[in-house]
Amino acid sequence: MKCSACRKGYLRPAKIDEGLPGYACTGCKGMLLSLSPYVDWMAPRRKQPRAEPQEPFDQSFTDTRHALGCPKCSRIMVKYKVLADAAHGLDYCFGCEEVWLDPGEWDWLKARGMHLEITSVTTEAWQRKLRQQQQREAQSQRFRQMLGEEVHAEATRIREWLAQQPARAEILHYLGQD
Ligand SMILES: [Zn+2]
Ligand SMILES: [Zn+2]
Repeated sequence: MKCSACRKGYLRPAKIDEGLPGYACTGCKGMLLSLSPYVDWMAPRRKQPRAEPQEPFDQSFTDTRHALGCPKCSRIMVKYKVLADAAHGLDYCFGCEEVWLDPGEWDWLKARGMHLEITSVTTEAWQRKLRQQQQREAQSQRFRQMLGEEVHAEATRIREWLAQQPARAEILHYLGQD
């Protein structure tokens, strides 16, 4: 199987982790992971059951600039962001249920305990959560630019305090009266 990421190397059977078979590229060292053996490998290591991959509703969130063809069937793989503040993405083929791991990506996932979350990352719920995080971060940035560092820090402190108050609705109402 020719590697569709570097277009030079070939995918050969390899061990992704202890007891987890997959393929590795002889050129770029990227790896191809089949969902089915992955789920069997991951299940005893993780408490929650597997999630079903879902195509993201908001395609703008997926990184099409680096769209990758599936090495098995050539179909365009869907890119899923793993974390809101990290560039790493998992490419997933819905036809073959294969996940492409960029060179070093498995170790990156493992270092964050995310190597057991691959089936969660490929769900709409996970992607929605990341979009919300990014929106909140963008809002916070705008607010900081508008009002300055000091006001932003104070407002953030008040918001965190407010979040812990059982009577926050009453407090907000009281503040809004002015
Ligand atoms: Zn390659
Ligand atoms: Zn495929």
